[in-house]
Amino acid sequence: MKTSIRLIQQKLGISADGIIGPQTLRAISQALGIQEIPVWPTQSEVRRGASLFGAPGSEDALVSILPAYPLYFEGKQVRSIRVHRAVATHVQQALAEVLQHYGQEEISRLGLDQYGGSYNYRPTSSGNALSMHAWGIALDFAPRSNGLHVQSPRASLSHPDCDAWWQIWEKHGAVSLGRERNYDWMHLQFARL
Ligand SMILES: [Zn+2]
Repeated sequence: MKTSIRLIQQKLGISADGIIGPQTLRAISQALGIQEIPVWPTQSEVRRGASLFGAPGSEDALVSILPAYPLYFEGKQVRSIRVHRAVATHVQQALAEVLQHYGQEEISRLGLDQYGGSYNYRPTSSGNALSMHAWGIALDFAPRSNGLHVQSPRASLSHPDCDAWWQIWEKHGAVSLGRERNYDWMHLQFARL
């Protein structure tokens, strides 16, 4: 058992300290694929206002987080990003995992540092309902090469080298409209369809 733990630690780049702490336990459960994936409310539950996310546009529910690696909005680095407090830890962790998995150079190459916004009190593109962005539970990345109507394989985030990117977000319960519906590949949200 000791050997396999060390192997997992090596594989995940975690230094062995002889103590099985929370980080090691998390690494083991991740390696074994037994990590608990959070289940977020559905979009319609969110829109009814009956979910843990409360009412849309509630500034009190928002927190600013510092991204694990530099993010750029329209070419300018953003200092922090604003999301609902209930998803903040997940966003922060997911970005840290992205950095750990890809490294800075690959992040830039794939455009995973091109940020398209999170909280925004606005309707969906169809205009029929409020967007999940209005609750601060949706984020957009690499918007320039993943426009609303750009499908796979033209959408850059649909490429196989972005599989790990999506797997990281999905591990936190987030949903990709691209992966689920093949549109709006820039978009991910902490609400089920
Ligand atoms: Zn979006």
